[in-house]
Amino acid sequence: LSDRLGGVFDRLTKQGALSEEDVAAAMREVRVALLEADVSLPVARSFVKSVTQKATGAAVTKSITPGQQVVKIVHDELIKVLQGEGEPDQLRIDNPPAPILMVGLQGSGKTTTTAKLAKRLKDREKKRVLLASLDTNRPAAMEQLAILGQQIGVDTLPIIPGENAVQIAKRARQQATLGGYDVYMLDTAGRLHIDEVLMDEVQAVRDVANPRETLLVVDGLTGQDAVNVASEFDGKVGITGVVLTRMDGDGRGGAALSMRAVTGKPIRFVGLGEKMDALEVFDAQRVAGRILGMGDIVALVEKAQEVLEVEQAERMMKRFQKGMFNMNDLRSQLEQMLKMGGMQSIMGMMPGMGKMAKQAEAAGFDDRAIKRQIALINSMTRKERANPDLLQASRKKRIAAGAGMEVSELNKLLKMQKQMADTMKKLGKMGKGGLLKQAMR
Ligand code: GDP
Ligand code: MG
Repeated sequence: LSDRLGGVFDRLTKQGALSEEDVAAAMREVRVALLEADVSLPVARSFVKSVTQKATGAAVTKSITPGQQVVKIVHDELIKVLQGEGEPDQLRIDNPPAPILMVGLQGSGKTTTTAKLAKRLKDREKKRVLLASLDTNRPAAMEQLAILGQQIGVDTLPIIPGENAVQIAKRARQQATLGGYDVYMLDTAGRLHIDEVLMDEVQAVRDVANPRETLLVVDGLTGQDAVNVASEFDGKVGITGVVLTRMDGDGRGGAALSMRAVTGKPIRFVGLGEKMDALEVFDAQRVAGRILGMGDIVALVEKAQEVLEVEQAERMMKRFQKGMFNMNDLRSQLEQMLKMGGMQSIMGMMPGMGKMAKQAEAAGFDDRAIKRQIALINSMTRKERANPDLLQASRKKRIAAGAGMEVSELNKLLKMQKQMADTMKKLGKMGKGGLLKQAMR
């Protein structure tokens, strides 16, 4: 995907505002990216539509390309959609004992997540938690919860064979009230597919338990299916949030976007492994990055906006157009590079540029080399910086010695400055609105 978006960047024309064609071209790629990330088609469509409206005509920050600008708009919009209102980890568990109902398909990670969440409530919020398994179909599942409870030091409701789910839910409430628990969590039975028997049972449990939170546990790897599951459960049972499991796998996270769009319910936590502490609060930013799968382009764009002062850039551009590029100009270019985190990090952030970054390093074009070049320029007089042609042998010796370097290094620097001045001159001759202006964008 990165490569493809890189291609779009190249194709995008470089002007002050995003044109409709710019946006349309980029949006085609974004749509494909979303589909590849398991976002469902209708959701991808409506998302692209809303971004298109936002992006068309948006002013382009001078320091970045229109392509990057589009990516940022897409990224920001993704975060907005992914982020529910409020803090995802703030569960409504006042008024003890607060019931939390855990629902989802079999194998989605319900039991594991129930235990993880109980541990989190116990460790972070100092809550007394009681766990109850309602999975009467599979005695092993009840055992499983009991074992996990023991592992994390959280009580589980004793198992009484022959009880049905509703009876267990009632007993859990009694026990939680009598035992002075803050929270009791009901781990329901799942099935491989949604069917009426399952939904009826979950509804019956919901009606007796009157849960404060009903969390749907969904396997993040299932992609499209996850969306159907979410809308079914939300429609029939009513959920208050989603936990996405197996986000440690290579799922792209598109399910998160679709589920948000379809149910409007917040994604609260993500499961990142089988261990009991592998549960994290949902981070919209991270998932947005994962959906777009384009590394740190957004970070690059933000950095560029921060660092580059537009006016300064424009002033310099005017000078360059006249073919003026002295040591002062070179120094501010070098300093800019350092500020942005050096050549390698800049190139490393751009799609397909990782290799070039390595080559640049091999060529001695790294932060250390840049600092040495700046030191050389600093040891020149003001006159010499403004007019490098003044530099004859004796001056060179003095400057190199002042910076603690060899004259050969200074010669390299001079050559670089001359080359850049020549290039600027050529570009400047191509007229206003020409190549140079584009290059500055
Ligand atoms: P349930 O049938 O919905 O209760 O699912 P379980 O909690 O029994 O989980 C099924 C399997 O998925 C178990 O082997 C879990 O260890 C595993 N699992 C659960 N959550 C995660 C997760 O976030 N990442 C990974 N890699 N495995 C998980
Ligand atoms: Mg289970």
